[in-house]
Amino acid sequence: MSTVPVKKLDIYDPVTPPVCTSCGRIIHPNERATVFICPNCGVAVIRRCEKCRAQGTPYTCPNCGFTGP
Ligand SMILES: [Zn+2]
Ligand SMILES: [Zn+2]
Repeated sequence: MSTVPVKKLDIYDPVTPPVCTSCGRIIHPNERATVFICPNCGVAVIRRCEKCRAQGTPYTCPNCGFTGP
């Protein structure tokens, strides 16, 4: 016999909303933002909002400090 704990589905997401690494604004789900892993350290997740993509705003990796276009 195994007892499987029942997980409750929360309406409110406890995870903080994704923010743009370049400008720090909250990225909306319907936005054409891009998410990728830092090409330098491969650890940190870089997020860029639609505006920063269009303007080519550079980002700085919060983990290793790598700056890229
Ligand atoms: Zn941005
Ligand atoms: Zn990095």
